[in-house]
Amino acid sequence: MAEKDFYEILGVSRNASNDEIKKSYRKLAMKYHPDRNKDDKASERKFKEVSAAYEVLKDPEKKAAYDQYGHDAFRQGGMGGAQGFGDFTSGFSDIFEEFFGGGFGGGTSGQRGPSRGSDLRYNISISLQDAFTGKKPKIKIPSYSKCDLCSGTGSADKSGPSTCSTCNGHGKVRSTQGFFSIERPCPSCGGQGSSIKNPCLKCNGIGQVKKQKTISVTIPAGVDTGTRIRISGEGEPGQRGANNGDLYIFVNVQKDKIFEREEENIFCNIPIAITTAILGGEIEVPTIEGKKARLTVPSGTQSETQFRLKGKGMSILRQSHRGDMYVEVVVEIPVNLTGKQKSILREFEKEGGTSKAHSPKSQSFFQKIKEVWEDLR
Ligand SMILES: [Zn+2]
Ligand SMILES: [Zn+2]
Repeated sequence: MAEKDFYEILGVSRNASNDEIKKSYRKLAMKYHPDRNKDDKASERKFKEVSAAYEVLKDPEKKAAYDQYGHDAFRQGGMGGAQGFGDFTSGFSDIFEEFFGGGFGGGTSGQRGPSRGSDLRYNISISLQDAFTGKKPKIKIPSYSKCDLCSGTGSADKSGPSTCSTCNGHGKVRSTQGFFSIERPCPSCGGQGSSIKNPCLKCNGIGQVKKQKTISVTIPAGVDTGTRIRISGEGEPGQRGANNGDLYIFVNVQKDKIFEREEENIFCNIPIAITTAILGGEIEVPTIEGKKARLTVPSGTQSETQFRLKGKGMSILRQSHRGDMYVEVVVEIPVNLTGKQKSILREFEKEGGTSKAHSPKSQSFFQKIKEVWEDLR
């Protein structure tokens, strides 16, 4: 049969650059991809042609051979037979990586046998309250189901993978360069030892097709930013029956407006009235669980005094007790006073209410100053 010129198929000139070839291939592959052209035989054929052409032209070695010998370069074994040129899925997987982030089945380089699926990462951002109580969000992740076109075999004729003829199933090939014998992954099967001669066009030889599913995830109480939760087997599917990858949930805990977290402890600033600070009293303090705790403020409490509420802090991962809560009170100075209020305060001052005897900070401050002055003398 007369074969079309690979450059013609990709619509590029013979001296096109790698980038031009790649660009053109991607455009055409998207255009003719079976997912977009269901049951369209002509598109299927085009897609296959385009993929086969790219498989050769993207590889400098194969391209050089093709430039010199044309299609004959691949006719006698060696490069994976007259049809298909090995796994043309590898060319297409570049695109999937770009569009879906991750690619099917993970790396094929250097490994022997069907490879385990790639791990997936899912970032979730939760409130501090959710981190305290734990959460069971439902998340959408990619899922895979058996390809109905090839019954999950990955091959168009449902025959499944066959032992790679290039490496006889070893997954590696040896070449000798001078004194050195170099072993490298088999280029025909990508190191897997077997390949699918005639890949299914719907699933590109993977045997599975991508969908979306909703799963419920348990985020335990006490997580913090950077906590990773592994959900085994919910990653990308393994190739041809190999294990699935895992799903990793990466947690980010958002900053809270009121509470500041430091590991298992919670800090919070609370303004209190000057009279409460002077006379003492009870105040209500908000807690992370959305309740209120009572805090006794002793008379003569200074601003920025810290109180500890034991066991009112953050939950701790896999433990039943909690951290502590630290409340720092900020004494508020009243503003916009009436004349009467001001005169009461002047009265208070006259009574000696602000004298050194009642002002421990001033006392110690002026004591220090005095010492400095004496030292200077
Ligand atoms: Zn299929
Ligand atoms: Zn091989």
